[in-house]
Amino acid sequence: MFPLSLKNNFNSQDYTLERTSFPHRSCLNHLEIQGIQTFYIESLTGYLSRLSQSHNLPVGILMERELASLVGKQHGGANLHKISKFTDALNGTGVMASELTDALQQLTLKSNLKFLTLVPLAEVLPHNGLLRPDRAWCPACYEAWQEQGQIIFDPLLWTLDCVKMCPYHQCQLVLECPHCCQANAPLAWRSRPGYCSRCDGWLGSSTTLERESDQAWSKDNWDWFTWTANAVGELLAELPQLVVSFSRDNISRNLRVIVDHLCEGNIADFARHLQMPKNTVWLWCKGRNLPKLNALLRICYCLQLPLKSLLVGLDEGKLSWSIQRDNQFQKSSRNESKPFESDRVRSYLESIVSSEELPPPSMEEVARRLEYDRRTIYRHFRDLCQAVSLKYKRYRQESHLDIVEQVCLEIEEIVNQLHTDGEYPSEMRVSEYLSKPGYLRYRKVRNRLEAIRNEVLSQPID
Ligand SMILES: [Zn+2]
Ligand SMILES: [Zn+2]
Repeated sequence: MFPLSLKNNFNSQDYTLERTSFPHRSCLNHLEIQGIQTFYIESLTGYLSRLSQSHNLPVGILMERELASLVGKQHGGANLHKISKFTDALNGTGVMASELTDALQQLTLKSNLKFLTLVPLAEVLPHNGLLRPDRAWCPACYEAWQEQGQIIFDPLLWTLDCVKMCPYHQCQLVLECPHCCQANAPLAWRSRPGYCSRCDGWLGSSTTLERESDQAWSKDNWDWFTWTANAVGELLAELPQLVVSFSRDNISRNLRVIVDHLCEGNIADFARHLQMPKNTVWLWCKGRNLPKLNALLRICYCLQLPLKSLLVGLDEGKLSWSIQRDNQFQKSSRNESKPFESDRVRSYLESIVSSEELPPPSMEEVARRLEYDRRTIYRHFRDLCQAVSLKYKRYRQESHLDIVEQVCLEIEEIVNQLHTDGEYPSEMRVSEYLSKPGYLRYRKVRNRLEAIRNEVLSQPID
């Protein structure tokens, strides 16, 4: 009982009891998105790999435990075994990408995960041929991030089939692990950005070995692929800020504006300029078919327009033909329907197996030289392809061991010098002087550092 005086003064309305609200907690780590509003916004599969890594779980297990109840079963659900052949679609424009996005948003309480996929462009990009079935990466990017102690991730840009090179390092993207010579799926049971999902080998590299293959490109190829990577990167970077909704009508309308402005309304003339079939271009202009991303890029390249302008709106005053004739296009359209020249391919593969070329080319490089898809060649000549890959793999292993040996010699010198200067040769100090500090991640190199240090520290300074 309150004393009477107090009881009389008590006014219950002054003391309303409210529940303290706690912020919602996410079931899975609230991982920051990498590269947002840059060319290198990360991919959804890359985000999921990093998320699994942050929970110390293989991707497949995390999906089964946490995502299965949130993802529809009609497309294989969250069972990685069932969807293993088409995990590229998880970064794409369709329902697999949007369902995974929603599920991950619920579990991580991160918003905007749709920009890690191509879902925002679903209205304007046909999914056929949009994404490559295998994972691609830039070894120089991985290596640089590792050396600078940055977060290692997989950008969405690398998943697009039309993007063949890294816009930062000006080198071709790689599709084959240098250790096991196998391709990686975009998402696999043990996916981890920077590492091979098959053999766990580190995929970063600053050596020029991979770059040898770059020489296979002509000047036209370089111009075209540089432009493509930048144009697509620019669009991906801008997407989160664009407040427009993309509609397929915009594309046909914009194409008709170009035809009217540059070709006096003559679609056949426009098609000639683009070096594309007249009927195909006619169907695009009439809005019956949607051009694929590669075709949109070709049009934008010929007019030197940003990709966005064809999807949103054009400035008619700036329209002009920047590139009249481009041999690259003639070459690529010829290759699409090229019959498989079995004899030529066989004898080339045999010559590679017996040649003294150094460094030996990878199968990826050989396929590029032959201008056929690597998988097509594998289908015809599996044994020869394996022999080419094995030769490449052996060379890689040997040259890797050579570099390890050199690094160890360097470490010996650095440790001795630091010790002579009266400084403790800590890993940090040694790595500052090392020409390849990234190699300290290898156990063999670390063991050698440990051994040399023990040896040196047991000796008195002169
Ligand atoms: Zn790069
Ligand atoms: Zn591997």
